[in-house]
Amino acid sequence: MKNSLPHHHGESEDILYLQEQVKQISHFQTIADIFRQLDDTTRIRIFWLLCHCEECVINISAILEMSSPAVSHHLRSLKNGGLIVSRRVGKEVYYRASTSKQSQLLHQMIEQMMEIACPKGNEYHE
Ligand SMILES: [Zn+2]
Repeated sequence: MKNSLPHHHGESEDILYLQEQVKQISHFQTIADIFRQLDDTTRIRIFWLLCHCEECVINISAILEMSSPAVSHHLRSLKNGGLIVSRRVGKEVYYRASTSKQSQLLHQMIEQMMEIACPKGNEYHE
């Protein structure tokens, strides 16, 4: 195994570990699926907003100055991907970010990449 690569550049044992990991395609697929959720600016904005509040479609639409059908479409996609959850109260449905590790990491990543402070501080909301 040690000299199994086509070129020999004096690789350390680490390459075997890397090779084993990089073969776990399903692990990487999970990441690709999550990032596919965020390949749209509007979805990122909605997701980030819902990391900090729980709102209905009408209010989310008003905050983003977008039509409700457009927002609904993005909410469906985020919900299918497990990044947000919904709660029905009577006729109203409220949305917020899920408390999954993925959601929390993306929440932090967005704020760190945009270099903005979290409006809720470092507490990641239950
Ligand atoms: Zn935040």
